[in-house]
Amino acid sequence: MAENTYDTIVIGGGPGGCAYALTMRRRGYRVLLLEKVTFPRFHIGESFLPYTVELIDQLGLLDAVMAKPYAYKPGVELTGIAGNMRRIDFGQIGDGRRTWSIQVERAEFDKTLLDETAAAGVTVLQEATVTEVEVTDGRVTGVTYTYEDETHHATAQYIADASGRAGVIPKKFGLRIADDKLRMAAVFKHYGDLDESMNPGVEGDTQLGIHQDGWVWGIPLRSDAISIGAVARMSILQSGRPEDVFDEHLARIPRIGQRLRGATVLRELKGERNFEYHSDTLSGPGYLLIGDAGSFTDPVFSGGVTLALATGRKAAELVADRLDGELSEAEVTSVYDAFFKTGYETYYRLIRAVYDERQPVMGQVILDMAADMDPKWHVRLVSGDFWTGQSPLVNLLREEQDWALFSPFELLTECPLYPEGAVA
Ligand SMILES: Cc1cc2nc3c(=O)[nH]c(=O)nc-3n(C[C@H](O)[C@H](O)[C@H](O)COP(=O)(O)OP(=O)(O)OC[C@H]3O[C@@H](n4cnc5c(N)ncnc54)[C@H](O)[C@@H]3O)c2cc1C
Repeated sequence: MAENTYDTIVIGGGPGGCAYALTMRRRGYRVLLLEKVTFPRFHIGESFLPYTVELIDQLGLLDAVMAKPYAYKPGVELTGIAGNMRRIDFGQIGDGRRTWSIQVERAEFDKTLLDETAAAGVTVLQEATVTEVEVTDGRVTGVTYTYEDETHHATAQYIADASGRAGVIPKKFGLRIADDKLRMAAVFKHYGDLDESMNPGVEGDTQLGIHQDGWVWGIPLRSDAISIGAVARMSILQSGRPEDVFDEHLARIPRIGQRLRGATVLRELKGERNFEYHSDTLSGPGYLLIGDAGSFTDPVFSGGVTLALATGRKAAELVADRLDGELSEAEVTSVYDAFFKTGYETYYRLIRAVYDERQPVMGQVILDMAADMDPKWHVRLVSGDFWTGQSPLVNLLREEQDWALFSPFELLTECPLYPEGAVA
C-alpha cells in the first residue's frame, strides 16, 4: 500500500502532464505519471510558438529537444481569401524575447519530454490507463488504473488531469461545455522529399492560407518533410471523399502547392475533429485540469502546446506551494482558475477574431482593429503572449463582449514567461 501512495498523480504524459510532473518532482515531491499508450505515438500539433520554445527552455528541456533536427521557424506566412498576404516575422517581437520557434514531429517530441520526465525521477508507467477517479467526501483522492493486465489503485494529495481531449475528470464530473460555434475538423498528410527552394516565401515559415470554406496549413517538420492539413466545418469535410476535399482545398492555396512541388507522401491522410469545448471549473478539492483536458480551441494559431506547458507548470507551482504549506487550497483554486482562463480566453478571442464573419479574412481583422499599432503587439500575440496586461491589441480583443469563453472571471495578467516590466 505504501508504494501506491504519492504526493501527486498525473493522468497523461503529453506536454501538459510532463510540465506538471517535472516541476513537481524538482520541488521534491513523489510523482506517479500514468500514460495510456507507449511513446512514441502519433499526435497532431506540430507547429510551435516562440513562447513554446521559451517554456521548453525554462523547463530545462531545450538541449534534449534540439538534439533532433526539427525545422527552425522564423515566422508565419498568412494568405487571405483575396490572395492578400502578410508575413509575421518573429524578429519583430521586441527586446528581450525569443525571436524564433520550431516545428516538430510530435511523436518524437513528446517521447523526449516523457523520457526526460522519467529521468528526473518521476515514476512513469506507459500502457497504464486510468479507468476511474476516486472521490472521498467530495475530494478527489486517487485513481484506479489498469497496468500489465491488472487493476491497481493509487492515492495522492493532488491528481492532475492532463489526459487531453479524453478528459477523465471533466467527463466524470460533467464539467465539459461544448462550444458549437466552430464545429471544425481537419484532414492532414505528411510529405517527404521537400525541396525548400520551391517555397515562394521564407524558409522554415509556417504557412496558413484561408479560403471561403476554411483554411490550409503548411508546417515544415524537418528540412525535407512537411505536414499539410485542411481545416473546414465538419459538414464540408463530410460532403465528399475526405481525400478529394483535401486535394480541392489544397489547390485553393497556390503558395502551399508551389512549396510541395516534387514532395512525396510519407503519411497517408488522417482526420481529427477540432470541436471546441471548455470547462468553467479548472480545479477543485484534490484536482486540477491541465491543457486540453480543461479546454480546447481551434488550432489556427498553434496555441495548444504553449497553453498545455504553461498550465502544467503553473499547476505544479501552486500545488507545490500548497504542499509546502504556503498557500491554502482556496488560493490554489482561485489563482489556477484565473491563470488558466486568462490564457485560454485570450487565445480563444484571437481565434474568434480570425473567424469573425464581419471580416472573414485571416489576419485582416487583427490588422484592421489595430492599424496604427506597433507591429510588435501583433507578433507577440501570435507568439503566445496570452497573459499580458500591457498589450493594446489584446485589450482590444478583450473588449468584444461576444468573444468571451468562460463565465465572467477576474483576469490574472501576469506573464508566466517574461515578468512584465522586465523587458520592453
Ligand atoms: C487538427 C489539430 C491541429 C493542431 N495543431 C497544433 C499546432 O500546430 N500547435 C500546437 O501547439 N497545438 C496544436 N494542436 C493542439 C495540440 O495538439 C494540443 O493542444 C496539445 O497536444 C495538448 O497537450 P496536452 O498535454 O494537454 O494533451 P495531449 O498531448 O493530448 O496528451 C494527453 C495524453 O493523455 C493520455 N491519456 C488519455 N486518456 C488517458 C487515460 N485514461 N489514462 C492515462 N493516459 C491517458 C493520452 O494517451 C495522451 O498521451 C492541434 C490540434 C488539432 C486537433
